[in-house]
Amino acid sequence: RSKDAGRSTHTVFVPDMMEDNKRRLLIANSISGAIKHNEFSVHYQAKVAPDESVVGYEALIRWKSESLGMVSPAEFIPIAEQSGKILSITKWVIKKVCQELDQILAMHTGKMVVSLNLSAHDIKNASLVDYIRAMFDKYRVDTSHIEFEVTESAYLENFDVANEFLKQIRDMGCSIALDDFGAGYSSLGYLTQIHLNTLKIDKQFVDNLNVSKRSTLVTKTIIEMAKQLNLQICAEGVETREQAEFLILNGCHQLQGYLFAKPMNLQDLLKR
Ligand code: C2E
Ligand code: MG
Ligand code: MG
Ligand code: MG
Repeated sequence: RSKDAGRSTHTVFVPDMMEDNKRRLLIANSISGAIKHNEFSVHYQAKVAPDESVVGYEALIRWKSESLGMVSPAEFIPIAEQSGKILSITKWVIKKVCQELDQILAMHTGKMVVSLNLSAHDIKNASLVDYIRAMFDKYRVDTSHIEFEVTESAYLENFDVANEFLKQIRDMGCSIALDDFGAGYSSLGYLTQIHLNTLKIDKQFVDNLNVSKRSTLVTKTIIEMAKQLNLQICAEGVETREQAEFLILNGCHQLQGYLFAKPMNLQDLLKR
């Protein structure tokens, strides 16, 4: 019996891998057409202050493909990165957010920041800085309303290149957030060397709150450290009231998660 089971998992393994590769190839080859045929859109997820007032939105790309249906960014962004298509996606998102920014800002009074995700691959491309500057000029963007989120992996390959890129972004008046903090390689050394405004605590730490005393202590320590470094702290993936209460009690400045709002398209956002 167990021998049979072993053999049958072996025989389905190979076709599965072929299916997998086929889908990856299909996705990679569909990206340029998807931009041309307007299959991408941007959803916005609120970030709230401890009093639950909205302080900003994160722009998150969505893809409704004619042939593949909804494809998650968690699936297609890594494929875009590996196939050299990410820059065109990044540029598309930047342009779209610049076009939609005024409508988002008009919904609220007070300081509002819209965040965009940059891939580690984008950071190597100095010409992207020129594109960003051109879009800000074209759409008359007040850069104090823009934040870019990057992950630690952006710094891994070439620290100086990444730091120079982000310094230029900062010099334009935008702020920088370190996304998914604690999820990856997390060298604490980076934190003293990079131009940074906000630390986004990865969802895994929020998930682990109240799981054990030790994981709660780790989360508390990250918050305390960020406070000592004068960084804004945003917690990702807040799903329960208990998590929110803990994070607020320990001094988180911003909270983001399904408890407060899911990512929404602009139309739905404006109707709220
Ligand atoms: P991220 O930047 O860390 O974004 C947070 C992800 O967590 C989003 O998934 C968001 O929808 C999801 N999320 C937010 N709150 C909750 C919650 O309470 N519970 C759960 N389970 N999930 C929550 P999404 O939109 O699928 O994006 C996944 C990742 O894809 C992003 O992670 C980011 O790394 C990447 N991504 C999305 N849009 C872009 C983009 O425009 N450019 C680039 N380069 N990457 C993007
Ligand atoms: Mg992000
Ligand atoms: Mg994140
Ligand atoms: Mg995350």
